[in-house]
Amino acid sequence: MTTPPPPAHPAVPATFRALRMLKDDSGIHHEFQQLTPADLGEGDTLVRVRYSSLNYKDGLAVAGKPGVLRSYPITPGIDLAGEVISCETGEYQPGDGVVLTGWGIGERVDGGYSELARVRAEWLVPLPGGVDARWAMSVGTAGFTAMLAVLALEGGGVTPERGEVLVTGAAGGVGSTAVSLLATAGFTVAASTGRPEEEAYLRSLGASVILPREEVPALKRPLEKERWAGVVDTVGGATLAGAIASTRTHGVVAACGLAGGSDLPTTVFPFILRGVTLAGIDSVTCPAPRRRAAWERLARDLPPRKLGDVTRVRPLDDLPELAEEILAGRVRGRTVIEVS
Ligand code: NDP
Repeated sequence: MTTPPPPAHPAVPATFRALRMLKDDSGIHHEFQQLTPADLGEGDTLVRVRYSSLNYKDGLAVAGKPGVLRSYPITPGIDLAGEVISCETGEYQPGDGVVLTGWGIGERVDGGYSELARVRAEWLVPLPGGVDARWAMSVGTAGFTAMLAVLALEGGGVTPERGEVLVTGAAGGVGSTAVSLLATAGFTVAASTGRPEEEAYLRSLGASVILPREEVPALKRPLEKERWAGVVDTVGGATLAGAIASTRTHGVVAACGLAGGSDLPTTVFPFILRGVTLAGIDSVTCPAPRRRAAWERLARDLPPRKLGDVTRVRPLDDLPELAEEILAGRVRGRTVIEVS
């Protein structure tokens, strides 16, 4: 048996555990491995990962499906939260609580399913006061994306006085957080869902109106009757086109996702005759100042007590099974992964 090398820094473990995705003659498969710090990728900051989370993208990655991971071997996990061990730029001190979502972790470079991560300080956001790493991962990329969408509506001048706002794919991860955040901000929220059994859940989050999916009509005419002051759309395709056509003058539509399709069969009329704004939401490359503002607001408007009921915590070992569950659509709410 070989002796592990001595740690390079007092707080740096000599070895650590990670879920790795490998590609070899037998195809793409996962393996829990014991790694050393020398196995980590480039970066100026070492983070002790406490928690990560499970997103649909992570499900695809861990199940070995194509389209998410860009190289092998790699550690999946698009979100992580924990404490800084060391930071070469001086931006963070050892022990600082941090959260990291996006920037290609768990896709192009190693991600959060690892007890240790080497990342760039500029990708990190300090954990806001009063919340911890577990809370941050119960928000995760889904909640962060919802927050960016709400900020886009507000930044475009949408206020509760201007009328109802629509959330599509409302029972999903992004949609349900958007419902909660918008209701907290005082908006009257109409939640569109294909799961009528989730009505009580959506009302508990603050939705005033529940619309069956088919009642948000696909585009029939370039301009429909004006209804929505703003829209948070996670569905894309004809649903997004229909929502744009029903958006009120100078309303804002935040396009977040493609759960129903990636095409956009629309016309220019809502934009040039009603001044509607189509705001694109990209959580992966969102610039640092907006990231920080979004996390501060999340800590204020989505405190741990609001997330407790919709979050479950599972160990790293369960990831292969959890990946199958999320791909089969059997996951509701958020799954936090306890890493170390
Ligand atoms: P979920 O799978 O949790 O939710 C998606 C929801 O969309 C479902 O719950 C369902 O809502 C609805 N839906 C699913 N299929 C269809 C369909 N065929 N037609 C209409 N509605 C449908 O995913 P997330 O909430 O995590 O993500 C939502 C979207 O946002 C995804 O496309 C994802 O890729 C994207 N995303 C984008 C990010 C960004 O940075 N822009 C970041 C994170 C996610 P219901 O049950 O209420 O009908």
